[in-house]
Amino acid sequence: MIHQATKQFRIAAVTPNSFADRLILWQRACGRHSLPWQGTRDPYTIWISEIMLQQTQVSTVIPYYERFMTVFPNVASLAAASLEEVLAMWSGLGYYSRGRNLHRTARILLEQYDGVFPQKALVLQQLPGIGRSTAAAIAAFAFGEYCAILDGNVKRILARYLGVNEYPGEKTAEKYLWELAESLLPVEKDHQTIASYTQALMDLGALVCVRTQPHCQRCPLQADCNAYQSNRTAVLPVPRPRKILPIRETMHLILLDQDRVLLKRRPATGIWGGLWCFPEIAVDQSGVDYCEKNLHMQALKFAELPHLQHMFTHFKLVIRPLLLSVTYQPAHKENSENNTLWLTIEEALQQAIPAPVRKLLLSTRSLLQSCIYE
Ligand code: SF4
Repeated sequence: MIHQATKQFRIAAVTPNSFADRLILWQRACGRHSLPWQGTRDPYTIWISEIMLQQTQVSTVIPYYERFMTVFPNVASLAAASLEEVLAMWSGLGYYSRGRNLHRTARILLEQYDGVFPQKALVLQQLPGIGRSTAAAIAAFAFGEYCAILDGNVKRILARYLGVNEYPGEKTAEKYLWELAESLLPVEKDHQTIASYTQALMDLGALVCVRTQPHCQRCPLQADCNAYQSNRTAVLPVPRPRKILPIRETMHLILLDQDRVLLKRRPATGIWGGLWCFPEIAVDQSGVDYCEKNLHMQALKFAELPHLQHMFTHFKLVIRPLLLSVTYQPAHKENSENNTLWLTIEEALQQAIPAPVRKLLLSTRSLLQSCIYE
């Protein structure tokens, strides 16, 4: 339970104006002003950047963002693309549902809104992949709507600043934080002020009130920050209660026919939906038998590569990679009709592939280059 006394004290003690004013002044002097998606009110640009920035650092996002905007500069071009083209541009960025939702939303915008973005956060958040905070960020930056954001960074800032003694992802705490975020909005309601304030919160979370060892000496909120004043910056926000995740194991078959590997497209739904992966079998199955019986190819030799672990929200996946040298009929190699492709490793790296497949392709390439594998 959040401490009610703390809640009442804080709401009374913090005047929204002073909080917002300090942040806006700080942003002008110390915030970020030259990111590739800044300096525009174009909702498409803001939308793409906001989605890419979810759970992903700015430095990682920039090259992806630039490539994506070159290929898909507007809603119409994104809607006209195939899902596969969109996912290929997303390859390596992770959380692929974001790419799938961008594509779905672009088509909805084109079909139901004549390609024009709705201006209200409440409408934007009905679109696939756009949550309440992202909708508010788009509406504030693009249309000057007077609304609060509450992404992971802002939760961290508010949890520290106000001394929230509960995991911010918990429902009650989250509801409370939304109330606070709204109560702290600047008094002035013009477009420039709300955009600067929203950017200030994002910048403070990224540059100053960072996850570990926040730079409180540079923070405009230090004077009345609960966590700083009570020496609790290391323990707030309260971490997610520990949960032991179940482990799933799987075997990935890296089938190599001379310089080509086999990739199979996964079904559209489920993990890594629509992405290209190696054939997958149960860990107690024989890779050699599987090749002969199911793929009608002979496996000549094999090597086991080190296991990989990949975390999903609800389970941990342990991948046992098995490298097999196979012979296959050349006539069948360029067969994409049944969702299989034989590609060189370089070509495979250009496809829409999840991070573990990318790692395995790179390990295979190193192995081949070092001639350990014959
Ligand atoms: S004083 Fe420190 S903990 Fe408090 S908001 Fe600023 S950076 Fe975060």
